Amino acid sequence: GPNRKMSFGFTNKLNGIEGKTPFLIGVSGGTASGESTVCKRIMEKLGQVDMDHQECQVVSISQDSFYRDNHSNSSFSPHFLFKYILTIFIICPALFCFRIKNQITTIYPADVVLFEGILVFYFPNIRDLFHMKLFVDTDSDTRLARRVPRDIKERGRDLDYVLNQYMNFVKPAFEEFCLPTKKFADVIIPRGADNTVAIDLIVHHIWDILHLKKADTSAGQHPCIQLRRTS
Ligand code: ADP
Ligand code: MG
Repeated sequence: GPNRKMSFGFTNKLNGIEGKTPFLIGVSGGTASGESTVCKRIMEKLGQVDMDHQECQVVSISQDSFYRDNHSNSSFSPHFLFKYILTIFIICPALFCFRIKNQITTIYPADVVLFEGILVFYFPNIRDLFHMKLFVDTDSDTRLARRVPRDIKERGRDLDYVLNQYMNFVKPAFEEFCLPTKKFADVIIPRGADNTVAIDLIVHHIWDILHLKKADTSAGQHPCIQLRRTS
């Protein structure tokens, strides 16, 4: 069954409770910066694509899944749900299902979890749980140029609506809630998915951490510390 994975675990402390967790990577950035695309590239390079979901060692979860209404990017109301689910997931990285928008989503246990979204570094208690924090830094005009056709094509919106929503909600929310969290990132990725050098470096780092951690039987040490020692 799915529990055969998690042959190792990273220690995390949450509200005084210590638990084993997958290697957690947070990925943030503005709308249409390419967070989802960067996660996809990382998954591909770690050989996790075209695989049965139950076999994957790496999973990618989007903050978008936790919005009540997929179309209201301006609404932050579901953040309690987001917090709640992430907390459960981290304490108990077992088979994990949640019902959202009348759909049941199942996340299988994995060794590496990528969690992406504009707010993932906003709440300090969630932010502190990540073993690695990435920020996708793409110019705002590039992001707008991507968002406009996406919203028109995929969401059936008209140009006026998309631009109004962007100027009145999306842009101010980015500046207030997302951009200030850039300083918490371990790695900033300029140009997003175009930046293959950055993505390759990150993938190698994840790969090293996972393999060193597996080889290490005296668990409990942060893999990064170990990595520095051996290099
Ligand atoms: P986010 O998850 O940050 O909102 P996505 O990864 O979904 O962003 O990308 C937003 C849109 O821009 C998508 O349509 C995607 O295909 C496109 N896109 C992302 N990165 C690039 C890139 N480097 N070059 C061209 N288009 C891109
Ligand atoms: Mg996305």
